[in-house]
Amino acid sequence: MGRLEGKVAVITGAAGGIGRVASARFVAEGCRLVMVDLSTEQLEQAAADLDPDRVEICEADVSSVQDSQRYIKAAVDRFGGIDILVANAGIEGQVARIVDYDVEEFDRVIAVNLRGVWLGIKYAFPQMIERGGGSIVVTSSTAGVTGSAVLSAYNASKHGVIGLMRSAARDGARQNIRVNTVNPCPVETRMMRSIETGIDGDDAQSVYERIQDSIPLGRYADPAEIANLMLFLVSDESSYLTGGVYMADGGSTS
Ligand code: NAD
Repeated sequence: MGRLEGKVAVITGAAGGIGRVASARFVAEGCRLVMVDLSTEQLEQAAADLDPDRVEICEADVSSVQDSQRYIKAAVDRFGGIDILVANAGIEGQVARIVDYDVEEFDRVIAVNLRGVWLGIKYAFPQMIERGGGSIVVTSSTAGVTGSAVLSAYNASKHGVIGLMRSAARDGARQNIRVNTVNPCPVETRMMRSIETGIDGDDAQSVYERIQDSIPLGRYADPAEIANLMLFLVSDESSYLTGGVYMADGGSTS
């Protein structure tokens, strides 16, 4: 028996570095899955090696009300309901100090990283209540508990989802819906390459090495190490855990 046998999951940002690995892991553990991201083509690539009988892909922008309702409906229509939501889609936004940061870019980061998570929770809740409960994992970050001079919108959004998670955990507790965040430090994905280049476009490699050095374990996380924590938090093994902030940060915030 897989650890997610019989469950239906939705993962947003499923074509990205962490979401793709988590998708494969969840399906290997027996669940049926809706993979949500911005581009059908990228979703098809991410799902290429997965069992098509267990996977539905759904092109959707998580910051849109209609798209959020549509991806939840896709899970209900194809698989009969939802037990698990991993609200993982996110963008880093500009790498700039506050005085140089575009106002529109600030709004976009908050729309995707905070409003998008709120919408996912809002529309998943009724479906989870129908099933007698569920588990929601939100991808926050070490940026959700610390600050960086050049990632103000990202920092604000990742702090924001912790508050949202705590509220949703209290909201859903008596209906057996658990809500937690995972908080990774730098992970080996596209997002960190973008941030490293944003910090120093002429010498991104030095930035990478400097950040690695600052992490007690001395390296970035592998996406699988984040997916492992997500898997535990959405499985019944974590049945008493809700309202928690789970650092996966190599000791960075110790
Ligand atoms: P990634 O860029 O590889 O993946 C993010 C995915 O989200 C992409 O596939 C992107 O298309 C999708 N996405 C962006 N905007 C969207 C929208 N409006 N609607 C639907 N999908 C959208 O990066 P990743 O590292 O896999 O990031 C996944 C999550 O982990 C993000 O929330 C990110 O903030 C968080 N995180 C990443 C790191 C890191 O170092 N990579 C560290 C801490 C937290």
